[in-house]
Amino acid sequence: MDGEFDLSKGKPGAGCGPLLAADSASSKPLRQRIFEYVRAHGHAARADISRALGVSPGSATTLTAELIQNGLLREVAQAPKEQGRGRPPVALEIVPDAGRVAGIKISHRHHTATLTDFAGNMIAQAVLETTQKAKRVHDVLDELNHLLKRLLKKADCTLADLNGIGIGMPGIIAHGEGIVRWSPILSERDQPFGTAFRDRFGVDVYLENDANMLTLAELWFGAGRDMSDFAVVTIENGVGMGLVLNNRLYRGSFGMGLELGHTKVQIDGALCRCGQRGCLEAYLGDYALAREATTALGFGQYQQSSMKGILDKLFEEAKLGNPAALTIFQRAGRYLALGLSNVMQLFDPALIILSGERMRYDYMFVGDVIADVQALTLSRGDQPCKIEIHNSGDLSWAHGASALALAAVTDEMFSTDRWTA
Ligand SMILES: [Zn+2]
Repeated sequence: MDGEFDLSKGKPGAGCGPLLAADSASSKPLRQRIFEYVRAHGHAARADISRALGVSPGSATTLTAELIQNGLLREVAQAPKEQGRGRPPVALEIVPDAGRVAGIKISHRHHTATLTDFAGNMIAQAVLETTQKAKRVHDVLDELNHLLKRLLKKADCTLADLNGIGIGMPGIIAHGEGIVRWSPILSERDQPFGTAFRDRFGVDVYLENDANMLTLAELWFGAGRDMSDFAVVTIENGVGMGLVLNNRLYRGSFGMGLELGHTKVQIDGALCRCGQRGCLEAYLGDYALAREATTALGFGQYQQSSMKGILDKLFEEAKLGNPAALTIFQRAGRYLALGLSNVMQLFDPALIILSGERMRYDYMFVGDVIADVQALTLSRGDQPCKIEIHNSGDLSWAHGASALALAAVTDEMFSTDRWTA
């Protein structure tokens, strides 16, 4: 359990990106696999690259020389503790300035942006407060214009210096086409957000569902770097989920994402904001808790205040020992346990990471939730799935969006004509 975990910082020199290669990795050009190996490990000697990727020392030398010549890698002395006798061996590392990407988290109350160099270091960040109502695409683009100006000014660069931008937002996102099928942020459905963004800013953009974006943050910068199978469950306004299977993000077929919040836990149950009944979210989401608080605790006078105001008041009451408030959180905790046990039973992940704004409310009961999950799951012997809480802030989500852009820009960079020789 690690409430202060901060994915946005990472460990200096520790590298970034998945440490285990996905099955699809063998179809990547060897130069790219070498580049990504070095980026994942922070730095690596030619001999290590040769051994890890199964290439001859001669090929490793030739290909790394090309990467150095193209300004993507550079030589660096290895740390003294890693040096053997004799001449200090030389390691390779990514040239951070070889590329720059931005990552953006679009959300209801504010948008968050990060600027990341090609080695994965966050070099600037910016936040823009916004209004909560659903907007048209061009209104959101106006807001992103302000946000990007703020971000780029901090790093003294311009849009032309960016190789790509990753954007995550809640909703149903057709990742490949850059189309937002539905999002609570937008007032209209089926919007070609990616094309509109590219036309306006002239930079390549990669869109993703926000829970997937946080999952990428864990895969690139966090606890998931050396894990082949793990899940991230986010509890904010709604309940989202991202899944890494076999070292890569699982995206499904139609951009629906893994809508854990809308899996049914009760036939003819409580009404969900999606219009259906009995969804997990209808027992666990912010609006579900607020609805219960309004009736069970007579929070009528808070009707006009924000959802956050109602939840803060409810949390305060629970901490003071108000039995009705405690019951509301405990009940939500039991539904959370039910959802998590289903995830475990279906995917058998090594780790489930719980994240999102709402986790701070659930800290009190997390022990009960974990005990309930184990009780609801078929015995796994001596190696139960771990459950960790990462109280990741919006910067971590935005940094995950920059990983999306880093991966795409890297793919693009290694598929161009300059390598055909
Ligand atoms: Zn629903």
